[in-house]
Amino acid sequence: MRSAPSPTLTGQPLNDQPLDGSLWAASAEPAGDYPALTGPTEADVVIVGAGYAGLSTALHLAERGLSATVLEAREPGFGGSGRSGGQVIPGLRHFASDLTAVYGEDAGRRAHAFGGGAADATFALIRRLGLACDARRAGWIQAADTPAALAQSRARVEAWRGGGAPVRLLGRDEIRSLIGSEAYLGGWIDPRGGTVQPLSYARSLARAASAAGARIFARSPAMSVSRVGAAWRVETPAGVASAPKLLLATNATTDGLWPRLERTILPVWSFQIATRPLSPSERRYVLPAAQAVSDTRRVLRFFRLDRDGRLVVGGKGTSHGPRSPQDFNLQALALQRLYPSLDGVEIDYRWGGQVAVTVDRLPRIVDLGPGAYANLGCNGKGVAWCTAIGAAYAEAFASGDPRALPIPTSPIEPIPFHELRRLYVGVGGAWLRFRDLIDQSSPVADLQSQSPKASP
Ligand SMILES: Cc1cc2nc3c(=O)[nH]c(=O)nc-3n(C[C@H](O)[C@H](O)[C@H](O)COP(=O)(O)OP(=O)(O)OC[C@H]3O[C@@H](n4cnc5c(N)ncnc54)[C@H](O)[C@@H]3O)c2cc1C
Repeated sequence: MRSAPSPTLTGQPLNDQPLDGSLWAASAEPAGDYPALTGPTEADVVIVGAGYAGLSTALHLAERGLSATVLEAREPGFGGSGRSGGQVIPGLRHFASDLTAVYGEDAGRRAHAFGGGAADATFALIRRLGLACDARRAGWIQAADTPAALAQSRARVEAWRGGGAPVRLLGRDEIRSLIGSEAYLGGWIDPRGGTVQPLSYARSLARAASAAGARIFARSPAMSVSRVGAAWRVETPAGVASAPKLLLATNATTDGLWPRLERTILPVWSFQIATRPLSPSERRYVLPAAQAVSDTRRVLRFFRLDRDGRLVVGGKGTSHGPRSPQDFNLQALALQRLYPSLDGVEIDYRWGGQVAVTVDRLPRIVDLGPGAYANLGCNGKGVAWCTAIGAAYAEAFASGDPRALPIPTSPIEPIPFHELRRLYVGVGGAWLRFRDLIDQSSPVADLQSQSPKASP
Protein backbone atom coordinates (compact mmCIF):
# COMPACT_ATOMS: atom_id res chain seq x y z
CA MET A 1 0.00 0.00 0.00
CA ARG A 2 1.30 3.46 -0.76
CA SER A 3 1.24 6.00 2.06
CA ALA A 4 0.30 9.61 2.31
CA PRO A 5 1.58 11.69 5.23
CA SER A 6 -0.92 11.99 8.01
CA PRO A 7 -0.56 14.81 10.53
CA THR A 8 -2.55 13.03 13.27
CA LEU A 9 0.13 10.50 14.11
CA THR A 10 1.45 12.00 17.30
CA GLY A 11 1.34 8.92 19.53
CA GLN A 12 -0.43 11.09 22.10
CA PRO A 13 -3.31 9.97 24.30
CA LEU A 14 -6.68 10.70 22.70
CA ASN A 15 -7.26 13.87 24.70
CA ASP A 16 -4.18 15.32 22.95
CA GLN A 17 -4.69 13.82 19.47
CA PRO A 18 -5.81 16.54 17.05
CA LEU A 19 -8.84 15.88 14.91
CA ASP A 20 -7.14 17.21 11.75
CA GLY A 21 -5.69 14.55 9.54
CA SER A 22 -8.71 12.25 9.59
CA LEU A 23 -10.88 11.79 6.54
CA TRP A 24 -13.77 13.18 8.52
CA ALA A 25 -11.95 16.40 9.46
CA ALA A 26 -11.00 16.88 5.81
CA SER A 27 -14.56 16.48 4.54
CA ALA A 28 -16.73 17.78 7.41
CA GLU A 29 -19.19 20.61 7.73
CA PRO A 30 -17.40 23.68 9.16
CA ALA A 31 -16.89 23.75 12.93
CA GLY A 32 -19.17 26.18 14.75
CA ASP A 33 -17.76 29.10 16.70
CA TYR A 34 -18.31 28.41 20.39
CA PRO A 35 -16.80 30.61 23.10
CA ALA A 36 -14.88 29.38 26.12
CA LEU A 37 -16.74 29.77 29.39
CA THR A 38 -15.73 32.83 31.36
CA GLY A 39 -17.34 33.75 34.67
CA PRO A 40 -20.30 32.08 36.35
CA THR A 41 -23.32 30.65 34.54
CA GLU A 42 -26.45 28.82 35.72
CA ALA A 43 -28.74 26.38 33.96
CA ASP A 44 -31.20 23.56 34.65
CA VAL A 45 -28.61 20.98 33.57
CA VAL A 46 -24.85 21.15 33.14
CA ILE A 47 -23.40 18.65 30.69
CA VAL A 48 -19.70 17.78 30.43
CA GLY A 49 -18.69 16.54 26.95
CA ALA A 50 -19.98 17.57 23.51
CA GLY A 51 -20.21 14.21 21.74
CA TYR A 52 -23.50 12.74 20.54
CA ALA A 53 -24.68 11.92 24.09
CA GLY A 54 -24.03 15.39 25.52
CA LEU A 55 -25.26 17.25 22.43
CA SER A 56 -28.40 15.17 21.95
CA THR A 57 -29.28 15.62 25.63
CA ALA A 58 -28.72 19.38 25.36
CA LEU A 59 -30.87 19.58 22.22
CA HIS A 60 -33.75 17.63 23.75
CA LEU A 61 -33.59 19.66 26.96
CA ALA A 62 -33.68 22.90 24.99
CA GLU A 63 -36.61 21.67 22.93
CA ARG A 64 -38.48 21.10 26.22
CA GLY A 65 -37.71 24.66 27.33
CA LEU A 66 -35.06 23.60 29.85
CA SER A 67 -31.70 25.36 29.88
CA ALA A 68 -28.53 23.37 29.29
CA THR A 69 -24.88 24.37 29.59
CA VAL A 70 -22.48 22.12 27.67
CA LEU A 71 -18.79 22.22 28.65
CA GLU A 72 -16.43 20.73 26.08
CA ALA A 73 -12.69 20.45 26.66
CA ARG A 74 -11.81 20.88 22.97
CA GLU A 75 -14.55 21.23 20.34
CA PRO A 76 -17.86 19.47 19.63
CA GLY A 77 -17.17 16.05 18.12
CA PHE A 78 -13.58 15.93 19.36
CA GLY A 79 -13.97 12.50 20.99
CA GLY A 80 -15.27 9.25 19.53
CA SER A 81 -18.19 11.07 17.90
CA GLY A 82 -15.98 12.90 15.39
CA ARG A 83 -13.65 9.95 14.71
CA SER A 84 -15.90 6.90 14.46
CA GLY A 85 -16.82 4.70 11.52
CA GLY A 86 -20.14 6.56 11.34
CA GLN A 87 -22.05 3.29 11.14
CA VAL A 88 -25.55 3.77 12.51
CA ILE A 89 -26.22 0.37 14.07
CA PRO A 90 -29.50 -0.62 15.69
CA GLY A 91 -29.47 -2.59 18.93
CA LEU A 92 -26.91 -3.61 21.50
CA ARG A 93 -24.52 -6.54 21.08
CA HIS A 94 -26.76 -8.66 23.29
CA PHE A 95 -29.83 -10.75 22.62
CA ALA A 96 -33.06 -9.73 24.36
CA SER A 97 -32.74 -12.84 26.53
CA ASP A 98 -29.26 -11.70 27.72
CA LEU A 99 -30.68 -8.30 28.64
CA THR A 100 -33.62 -9.75 30.59
CA ALA A 101 -31.17 -12.04 32.42
CA VAL A 102 -29.08 -9.02 33.46
CA TYR A 103 -31.73 -6.37 34.06
CA GLY A 104 -34.86 -8.41 34.78
CA GLU A 105 -37.82 -9.09 32.50
CA ASP A 106 -39.32 -5.60 32.12
CA ALA A 107 -36.13 -3.55 32.16
CA GLY A 108 -34.41 -6.03 29.81
CA ARG A 109 -37.24 -5.80 27.30
CA ARG A 110 -37.20 -2.01 27.52
CA ALA A 111 -33.44 -1.89 26.93
CA HIS A 112 -33.78 -4.20 23.94
CA ALA A 113 -36.65 -2.18 22.43
CA PHE A 114 -34.75 1.07 22.98
CA GLY A 115 -31.63 -0.27 21.27
CA GLY A 116 -33.69 -1.64 18.39
CA GLY A 117 -35.28 1.78 17.84
CA ALA A 118 -32.05 3.77 18.21
CA ALA A 119 -31.20 3.89 14.49
CA ASP A 120 -34.79 4.91 13.66
CA ALA A 121 -34.50 7.69 16.24
CA THR A 122 -31.17 8.83 14.79
CA PHE A 123 -32.33 9.04 11.19
CA ALA A 124 -35.63 10.64 12.29
CA LEU A 125 -33.71 13.34 14.18
CA ILE A 126 -31.42 13.97 11.21
CA ARG A 127 -34.44 14.30 8.93
CA ARG A 128 -36.50 16.44 11.30
CA LEU A 129 -33.71 18.97 11.85
CA GLY A 130 -32.19 18.71 8.37
CA LEU A 131 -28.76 17.89 9.86
CA ALA A 132 -26.07 18.03 7.18
CA CYS A 133 -24.07 14.82 7.62
CA ASP A 134 -24.25 12.76 4.39
CA ALA A 135 -26.78 10.45 6.06
CA ARG A 136 -27.51 7.35 4.02
CA ARG A 137 -29.84 4.60 5.16
CA ALA A 138 -28.73 1.70 3.01
CA GLY A 139 -28.67 -0.81 5.88
CA TRP A 140 -26.08 -2.40 8.14
CA ILE A 141 -24.60 -5.82 7.42
CA GLN A 142 -23.03 -8.11 9.97
CA ALA A 143 -20.81 -10.44 7.96
CA ALA A 144 -19.88 -13.94 9.16
CA ASP A 145 -16.62 -15.61 8.21
CA THR A 146 -16.90 -18.95 10.02
CA PRO A 147 -19.64 -21.58 10.32
CA ALA A 148 -20.04 -20.71 14.01
CA ALA A 149 -20.49 -17.03 13.12
CA LEU A 150 -23.04 -17.99 10.48
CA ALA A 151 -25.01 -19.97 13.06
CA GLN A 152 -24.90 -16.88 15.27
CA SER A 153 -26.24 -14.79 12.36
CA ARG A 154 -29.17 -17.20 12.02
CA ALA A 155 -29.91 -16.90 15.72
CA ARG A 156 -29.77 -13.10 15.51
CA VAL A 157 -32.14 -13.00 12.57
CA GLU A 158 -34.61 -15.32 14.30
CA ALA A 159 -34.49 -13.28 17.49
CA TRP A 160 -34.93 -9.92 15.75
CA ARG A 161 -37.66 -11.20 13.43
CA GLY A 162 -39.48 -12.67 16.44
CA GLY A 163 -39.71 -9.08 17.71
CA GLY A 164 -40.89 -7.80 14.31
CA ALA A 165 -37.62 -6.26 13.10
CA PRO A 166 -37.19 -6.22 9.29
CA VAL A 167 -33.85 -8.08 9.26
CA ARG A 168 -32.95 -10.98 6.98
CA LEU A 169 -30.28 -13.60 6.49
CA LEU A 170 -27.76 -13.27 3.65
CA GLY A 171 -26.42 -16.32 1.88
CA ARG A 172 -22.93 -16.60 0.46
CA ASP A 173 -23.82 -15.40 -3.04
CA GLU A 174 -25.81 -12.44 -1.84
CA ILE A 175 -23.19 -11.21 0.62
CA ARG A 176 -20.53 -11.62 -2.06
CA SER A 177 -22.44 -9.35 -4.41
CA LEU A 178 -23.38 -6.82 -1.69
CA ILE A 179 -19.83 -6.51 -0.35
CA GLY A 180 -17.82 -7.43 -3.44
CA SER A 181 -15.57 -9.72 -1.43
CA GLU A 182 -15.08 -13.46 -1.05
CA ALA A 183 -14.21 -13.08 2.63
CA TYR A 184 -17.55 -14.10 4.12
CA LEU A 185 -19.75 -17.18 4.23
CA GLY A 186 -22.92 -15.16 4.77
CA GLY A 187 -24.39 -12.85 7.37
CA TRP A 188 -27.46 -10.75 7.90
CA ILE A 189 -28.70 -7.29 7.04
CA ASP A 190 -30.60 -4.79 9.12
CA PRO A 191 -32.21 -2.18 6.83
CA ARG A 192 -32.75 0.15 9.80
CA GLY A 193 -29.01 0.92 9.86
CA GLY A 194 -26.84 3.09 7.64
CA THR A 195 -24.05 5.64 7.67
CA VAL A 196 -23.33 9.27 8.53
CA GLN A 197 -20.27 11.48 8.20
CA PRO A 198 -19.60 11.33 11.93
CA LEU A 199 -17.89 14.70 12.46
CA SER A 200 -20.42 16.54 10.29
CA TYR A 201 -23.14 14.88 12.33
CA ALA A 202 -21.61 16.03 15.65
CA ARG A 203 -21.12 19.56 14.33
CA SER A 204 -24.64 19.75 12.89
CA LEU A 205 -26.08 18.42 16.13
CA ALA A 206 -24.15 21.08 18.05
CA ARG A 207 -25.48 23.76 15.72
CA ALA A 208 -29.06 22.49 16.17
CA ALA A 209 -28.71 22.31 19.97
CA SER A 210 -27.33 25.83 20.03
CA ALA A 211 -30.13 27.12 17.77
CA ALA A 212 -32.67 25.51 20.11
CA GLY A 213 -31.19 27.47 23.04
CA ALA A 214 -28.51 25.24 24.58
CA ARG A 215 -25.30 27.07 25.51
CA ILE A 216 -22.19 25.29 24.28
CA PHE A 217 -18.73 26.24 25.50
CA ALA A 218 -15.64 24.95 23.70
CA ARG A 219 -12.08 24.91 25.08
CA SER A 220 -13.68 24.68 28.53
CA PRO A 221 -12.44 21.54 30.26
CA ALA A 222 -14.29 20.67 33.45
CA MET A 223 -11.61 20.59 36.15
CA SER A 224 -13.65 19.80 39.24
CA VAL A 225 -17.21 18.94 40.21
CA SER A 226 -18.65 19.66 43.63
CA ARG A 227 -22.02 19.73 45.32
CA VAL A 228 -22.88 23.13 46.80
CA GLY A 229 -26.29 23.17 48.52
CA ALA A 230 -28.75 21.76 45.98
CA ALA A 231 -26.54 22.56 42.97
CA TRP A 232 -23.74 20.86 41.08
CA ARG A 233 -20.86 23.23 40.49
CA VAL A 234 -18.44 22.53 37.65
CA GLU A 235 -15.25 24.57 37.44
CA THR A 236 -13.39 25.30 34.21
CA PRO A 237 -10.15 27.29 33.89
CA ALA A 238 -11.99 30.62 33.57
CA GLY A 239 -15.56 29.94 34.68
CA VAL A 240 -18.04 28.04 36.83
CA ALA A 241 -21.23 26.37 35.62
CA SER A 242 -23.91 25.53 38.20
CA ALA A 243 -27.11 23.52 37.86
CA PRO A 244 -29.31 21.25 39.96
CA LYS A 245 -28.76 18.45 37.42
CA LEU A 246 -25.55 17.07 35.94
CA LEU A 247 -24.56 14.73 33.09
CA LEU A 248 -20.98 13.58 32.55
CA ALA A 249 -20.95 12.50 28.91
CA THR A 250 -17.23 11.90 28.45
CA ASN A 251 -17.31 8.16 27.54
CA ALA A 252 -13.84 6.93 26.45
CA THR A 253 -12.25 10.31 27.21
CA THR A 254 -13.28 10.11 30.87
CA ASP A 255 -10.42 11.29 33.05
CA GLY A 256 -10.01 11.81 36.78
CA LEU A 257 -12.80 14.43 36.99
CA TRP A 258 -14.95 12.13 39.13
CA PRO A 259 -13.13 9.73 41.46
CA ARG A 260 -12.85 6.16 40.13
CA LEU A 261 -15.16 6.83 37.15
CA GLU A 262 -12.43 6.35 34.55
CA ARG A 263 -11.77 2.91 36.04
CA THR A 264 -15.24 1.67 35.03
CA ILE A 265 -14.25 1.43 31.34
CA LEU A 266 -11.25 0.33 29.27
CA PRO A 267 -10.38 2.90 26.59
CA VAL A 268 -9.37 0.74 23.60
CA TRP A 269 -7.74 2.23 20.51
CA SER A 270 -9.57 1.68 17.24
CA PHE A 271 -7.88 2.77 13.99
CA GLN A 272 -9.21 3.52 10.52
CA ILE A 273 -7.72 4.03 7.07
CA ALA A 274 -9.38 5.57 4.02
CA THR A 275 -8.38 4.92 0.41
CA ARG A 276 -8.38 7.36 -2.44
CA PRO A 277 -11.83 7.64 -4.08
CA LEU A 278 -12.42 4.34 -5.86
CA SER A 279 -12.73 4.37 -9.63
CA PRO A 280 -16.14 3.77 -11.26
CA SER A 281 -15.09 0.22 -12.16
CA GLU A 282 -14.04 -0.47 -8.55
CA ARG A 283 -17.27 1.08 -7.29
CA ARG A 284 -19.23 -1.40 -9.37
CA TYR A 285 -18.22 -4.26 -7.09
CA VAL A 286 -17.05 -2.67 -3.79
CA LEU A 287 -20.18 -2.11 -1.70
CA PRO A 288 -22.24 -1.13 -4.76
CA ALA A 289 -25.30 -0.31 -2.61
CA ALA A 290 -23.18 1.43 0.09
CA GLN A 291 -24.18 -0.56 3.16
CA ALA A 292 -22.14 -0.32 6.34
CA VAL A 293 -20.44 -3.59 7.31
CA SER A 294 -19.02 -5.00 10.53
CA ASP A 295 -17.93 -8.59 10.86
CA THR A 296 -18.10 -11.13 13.64
CA ARG A 297 -14.40 -11.78 14.17
CA ARG A 298 -13.08 -11.53 17.71
CA VAL A 299 -10.91 -8.66 16.48
CA LEU A 300 -13.61 -7.22 14.32
CA ARG A 301 -13.26 -5.30 11.07
CA PHE A 302 -15.70 -2.64 9.97
CA PHE A 303 -15.88 -0.89 6.64
CA ARG A 304 -17.96 1.44 4.49
CA LEU A 305 -17.72 4.01 1.72
CA ASP A 306 -17.73 7.74 2.24
CA ARG A 307 -19.67 10.15 0.03
CA ASP A 308 -16.75 10.39 -2.43
CA GLY A 309 -16.42 6.63 -2.80
CA ARG A 310 -13.40 6.18 -0.55
CA LEU A 311 -13.28 2.83 1.20
CA VAL A 312 -12.91 3.28 4.96
CA VAL A 313 -11.66 0.23 6.87
CA GLY A 314 -11.36 0.08 10.65
CA GLY A 315 -10.52 -2.27 13.46
CA LYS A 316 -8.63 -2.66 16.68
CA GLY A 317 -5.61 -0.39 16.99
CA THR A 318 -2.37 -0.71 18.93
CA SER A 319 -2.21 -0.39 22.71
CA HIS A 320 -1.10 3.26 22.30
CA GLY A 321 -2.18 6.15 20.10
CA PRO A 322 -1.12 6.01 16.44
CA ARG A 323 2.51 7.03 15.90
CA SER A 324 3.40 5.93 12.39
CA PRO A 325 1.79 4.44 9.26
CA GLN A 326 3.07 1.01 10.43
CA ASP A 327 0.67 1.20 13.36
CA PHE A 328 -2.07 0.77 10.76
CA ASN A 329 -0.71 -2.50 9.36
CA LEU A 330 -3.66 -4.51 10.67
CA GLN A 331 -6.13 -2.27 8.83
CA ALA A 332 -4.01 -2.44 5.65
CA LEU A 333 -3.94 -6.23 5.96
CA ALA A 334 -7.71 -6.32 6.45
CA LEU A 335 -8.17 -4.24 3.31
CA GLN A 336 -5.89 -6.57 1.36
CA ARG A 337 -7.73 -9.68 2.60
CA LEU A 338 -11.15 -8.21 1.92
CA TYR A 339 -10.32 -6.81 -1.50
CA PRO A 340 -7.19 -8.44 -2.98
CA SER A 341 -7.96 -6.66 -6.25
CA LEU A 342 -7.36 -3.30 -4.51
CA ASP A 343 -3.82 -4.28 -3.55
CA GLY A 344 -1.58 -1.20 -3.74
CA VAL A 345 -4.42 1.32 -3.58
CA GLU A 346 -3.34 4.67 -2.11
CA ILE A 347 -4.24 5.24 1.53
CA ASP A 348 -5.03 8.93 1.89
CA TYR A 349 -5.99 9.08 5.58
CA ARG A 350 -5.15 7.27 8.80
CA TRP A 351 -6.52 8.13 12.21
CA GLY A 352 -7.50 6.68 15.54
CA GLY A 353 -9.92 7.08 18.39
CA GLN A 354 -10.73 5.32 21.61
CA VAL A 355 -13.71 3.10 22.28
CA ALA A 356 -15.03 2.79 25.85
CA VAL A 357 -15.26 -0.93 26.54
CA THR A 358 -16.91 -2.54 29.57
CA VAL A 359 -16.21 -6.08 30.72
CA ASP A 360 -19.74 -7.30 29.91
CA ARG A 361 -19.96 -5.08 26.79
CA LEU A 362 -23.06 -3.38 28.18
CA PRO A 363 -23.35 0.42 28.36
CA ARG A 364 -23.57 2.10 31.75
CA ILE A 365 -25.60 4.91 33.22
CA VAL A 366 -23.82 5.60 36.46
CA ASP A 367 -25.77 7.18 39.30
CA LEU A 368 -23.51 9.93 40.70
CA GLY A 369 -25.90 11.42 43.25
CA PRO A 370 -29.05 13.57 43.25
CA GLY A 371 -29.99 14.32 39.62
CA ALA A 372 -26.52 13.38 38.35
CA TYR A 373 -25.46 10.67 35.90
CA ALA A 374 -22.49 9.58 33.84
CA ASN A 375 -23.03 8.03 30.41
CA LEU A 376 -20.33 5.51 29.56
CA GLY A 377 -19.35 2.29 27.87
CA CYS A 378 -20.80 2.50 24.36
CA ASN A 379 -18.54 -0.41 23.31
CA GLY A 380 -18.09 0.86 19.77
CA LYS A 381 -21.84 1.09 19.14
CA GLY A 382 -22.57 4.62 20.23
CA VAL A 383 -23.69 6.54 17.16
CA ALA A 384 -27.32 5.46 17.41
CA TRP A 385 -27.39 4.65 21.13
CA CYS A 386 -25.88 7.99 22.24
CA THR A 387 -28.17 9.94 19.92
CA ALA A 388 -31.30 8.19 21.14
CA ILE A 389 -30.32 8.40 24.79
CA GLY A 390 -30.36 12.21 24.67
CA ALA A 391 -34.16 12.25 24.59
CA ALA A 392 -34.26 9.79 27.48
CA TYR A 393 -31.91 11.89 29.63
CA ALA A 394 -33.97 14.99 28.86
CA GLU A 395 -37.11 13.14 30.01
CA ALA A 396 -35.36 11.83 33.15
CA PHE A 397 -34.08 15.31 34.05
CA ALA A 398 -37.46 16.94 33.36
CA SER A 399 -39.50 14.38 35.27
CA GLY A 400 -36.95 13.47 37.94
CA ASP A 401 -37.74 9.83 37.17
CA PRO A 402 -34.76 7.62 36.26
CA ARG A 403 -37.20 5.05 34.82
CA ALA A 404 -37.22 7.24 31.71
CA LEU A 405 -33.71 5.91 31.04
CA PRO A 406 -33.29 2.86 28.78
CA ILE A 407 -31.23 0.83 31.25
CA PRO A 408 -31.17 0.78 35.05
CA THR A 409 -28.61 3.04 36.66
CA SER A 410 -25.64 1.45 38.41
CA PRO A 411 -23.10 2.54 41.02
CA ILE A 412 -19.45 3.14 40.13
CA GLU A 413 -17.99 -0.34 39.64
CA PRO A 414 -14.28 -0.10 38.82
CA ILE A 415 -12.89 -2.86 36.61
CA PRO A 416 -10.65 -5.05 38.78
CA PHE A 417 -6.90 -4.53 38.16
CA HIS A 418 -7.77 -1.60 35.94
CA GLU A 419 -4.23 -0.24 36.24
CA LEU A 420 -3.05 -3.22 34.17
CA ARG A 421 -5.48 -2.33 31.40
CA ARG A 422 -2.94 -1.51 28.71
CA LEU A 423 -1.24 -4.84 29.20
CA TYR A 424 -4.59 -6.64 29.32
CA VAL A 425 -5.85 -4.94 26.15
CA GLY A 426 -2.56 -5.47 24.27
CA VAL A 427 -2.08 -9.12 25.22
CA GLY A 428 -5.80 -9.82 24.90
CA GLY A 429 -5.80 -8.36 21.38
CA ALA A 430 -2.93 -10.59 20.23
CA TRP A 431 -4.65 -13.67 21.69
CA LEU A 432 -7.93 -12.82 19.99
CA ARG A 433 -6.20 -12.33 16.61
CA PHE A 434 -4.59 -15.75 17.06
CA ARG A 435 -8.03 -17.29 17.80
CA ASP A 436 -9.42 -15.66 14.62
CA LEU A 437 -6.61 -17.23 12.61
CA ILE A 438 -7.33 -20.67 14.11
CA ASP A 439 -11.05 -20.31 13.29
CA GLN A 440 -10.22 -19.39 9.75
CA SER A 441 -8.12 -22.46 9.16
CA SER A 442 -11.26 -24.59 9.52
CA PRO A 443 -12.11 -26.74 6.44
CA VAL A 444 -14.80 -24.30 5.30
CA ALA A 445 -12.44 -21.36 5.56
CA ASP A 446 -9.84 -23.29 3.55
CA LEU A 447 -12.42 -23.90 0.87
CA GLN A 448 -13.33 -20.25 1.00
CA SER A 449 -9.73 -19.14 0.42
CA GLN A 450 -9.57 -21.29 -2.74
CA SER A 451 -12.65 -19.76 -4.36
CA PRO A 452 -12.22 -17.17 -7.10
CA LYS A 453 -11.58 -13.56 -6.06
CA ALA A 454 -14.07 -10.80 -6.73
CA SER A 455 -13.09 -8.96 -9.84
CA PRO A 456 -13.78 -5.44 -11.04
C1 LIG B 1 -12.41 4.67 15.76
C2 LIG B 1 -13.81 4.51 16.27
C3 LIG B 1 -14.77 3.96 15.44
C4 LIG B 1 -16.09 3.85 15.90
N1 LIG B 1 -17.04 3.42 15.03
C5 LIG B 1 -18.34 3.39 15.41
C6 LIG B 1 -19.36 3.07 14.48
O1 LIG B 1 -19.10 2.88 13.28
N2 LIG B 1 -20.64 3.01 14.92
C7 LIG B 1 -20.96 3.26 16.24
O2 LIG B 1 -22.14 3.19 16.60
N3 LIG B 1 -20.01 3.64 17.14
C8 LIG B 1 -18.71 3.72 16.75
N4 LIG B 1 -17.76 4.12 17.62
C9 LIG B 1 -18.19 4.50 18.98
C10 LIG B 1 -18.81 5.90 19.00
O3 LIG B 1 -17.98 6.79 18.31
C11 LIG B 1 -18.97 6.36 20.44
O4 LIG B 1 -19.68 5.38 21.17
C12 LIG B 1 -19.75 7.66 20.57
O5 LIG B 1 -19.29 8.62 19.65
C13 LIG B 1 -19.63 8.17 21.99
O6 LIG B 1 -20.22 9.42 22.07
P1 LIG B 1 -20.17 10.20 23.43
O7 LIG B 1 -20.95 11.43 23.27
O8 LIG B 1 -20.58 9.29 24.55
O9 LIG B 1 -18.63 10.49 23.71
P2 LIG B 1 -17.51 11.32 22.83
O10 LIG B 1 -17.93 11.55 21.44
O11 LIG B 1 -16.26 10.60 23.06
O12 LIG B 1 -17.50 12.71 23.55
C14 LIG B 1 -16.92 12.93 24.80
C15 LIG B 1 -16.45 14.38 24.83
O13 LIG B 1 -16.11 14.71 26.18
C16 LIG B 1 -15.04 15.66 26.11
N5 LIG B 1 -14.41 15.70 27.44
C17 LIG B 1 -13.70 14.73 28.04
N6 LIG B 1 -13.30 15.14 29.27
C18 LIG B 1 -13.79 16.38 29.42
C19 LIG B 1 -13.72 17.34 30.48
N7 LIG B 1 -13.07 17.08 31.62
N8 LIG B 1 -14.34 18.53 30.31
C20 LIG B 1 -15.01 18.81 29.16
N9 LIG B 1 -15.09 17.93 28.13
C21 LIG B 1 -14.50 16.74 28.27
C22 LIG B 1 -14.16 15.13 24.99
O14 LIG B 1 -13.31 16.14 24.47
C23 LIG B 1 -15.20 14.64 23.99
O15 LIG B 1 -15.49 15.60 23.00
C24 LIG B 1 -16.44 4.24 17.22
C25 LIG B 1 -15.46 4.80 18.05
C26 LIG B 1 -14.17 4.95 17.58
C27 LIG B 1 -13.17 5.59 18.49
